Amino acid sequence: MSLQDNNNDNDQNFMQKEIQEWLSSQDNFGKELWDELVYLRNRPLKKRKYNTQTQLNRPVAVFSKPERLKNGMGTEITLIFRSSACSWAKSKSGGCTMCGYWNDRAPESITGDNYWNQFQASLSKNESLLKDLTSKIVFKIFTSGSFCDPKEIPGEIQFRILKTLGEFSTIKEIVIESRPEYITKQILEQYKPFIGDKYFEIGVGLETSSDFIRMNLINKGFNFNSFLTATKLLHSFNFGIKAYILFKPPFINEYGAINDSFQTVRICIENKVDTISINPTNIQMHTLSSELEKVRQFRSPWLFSLLWLLKHSITNDELKQTRVICDPSAAGKERGVHNCNPYDSSNDYCLEILHKFVETQNTQVIPENFEGSCWNEYNFEILLGNQ
Ligand code: SF4
Repeated sequence: MSLQDNNNDNDQNFMQKEIQEWLSSQDNFGKELWDELVYLRNRPLKKRKYNTQTQLNRPVAVFSKPERLKNGMGTEITLIFRSSACSWAKSKSGGCTMCGYWNDRAPESITGDNYWNQFQASLSKNESLLKDLTSKIVFKIFTSGSFCDPKEIPGEIQFRILKTLGEFSTIKEIVIESRPEYITKQILEQYKPFIGDKYFEIGVGLETSSDFIRMNLINKGFNFNSFLTATKLLHSFNFGIKAYILFKPPFINEYGAINDSFQTVRICIENKVDTISINPTNIQMHTLSSELEKVRQFRSPWLFSLLWLLKHSITNDELKQTRVICDPSAAGKERGVHNCNPYDSSNDYCLEILHKFVETQNTQVIPENFEGSCWNEYNFEILLGNQ
């Protein structure tokens, strides 16, 4: 598959319009799924009381930890905004089948000042790190939606945040995330002067290269071509693209998930994606995947499968062009990627290997076989095609 040469900005504007038209025309197709997703999302909201200015000025989370940068190891500062939630999740589609970000959403009344105060809180918390001239920082902003969507984060606040980050010499990389329909030529032109010579990357939840799986099993609402258009546009500005790959979407068994993610990694590499983030599905509250898990029709993937995927889907030479990262939520726990059970010692062993792989970007640190506790059980699961 190769990138098409066309007018990217018109394409993305067309895409936003097309998604809206498609949504309004879907009276029957997928209606039951959408109704179920909307029901699951709205259920917890009835109990929520969460409106004070103190709460709205406080992000969902701010943390720092070691992270692999483009040029070696450094530190990541992550800011998770308390936002009014993803436009796709708020639409009548109900959002994606595995996504529970909606659970942390703020009311629609949240203002630009609230976002700005949340951002300032993330800077204050990391003041010494940001001012230490030996620091090499990647600053990541997660919006649980799209940073570039002005209905989520007002445009003026987007620009102020990027301008402020651009002024720190210790910040080497800035990473935001967005659905592809909001990545337009117009917005990238506005971002460009603030970024300077820093590496700037937008993460897109591609999840899979299969349109069938993305549209029907994940309910993502955009196709692979939209992702490719965003990739080309970002590269034309010398910006990078990160593909989030969902390892094991709902309704897919372990073997199918390995195949799907393997294909997706290969296609991302062919299309010169700069960073691949492999995200093993974790079971988030009030999602369709959690409903499936309750009736034993779904489980998070095995760590053995994740390591197999990382070892076999990319070569060490390719890792010089495309960085592969993987920092699974709830790793080793029941609701996250784990082997036969959360208490088995193979979880810690596999996670140690995973961290080493991300740090070194060398597939040789991953063994071919894992003898011991869970290994035989795992091979049976795969042979039998179980969940
Ligand atoms: S996964 Fe992303 S696009 Fe899908 S509902 Fe969640 S925030 Fe929105």
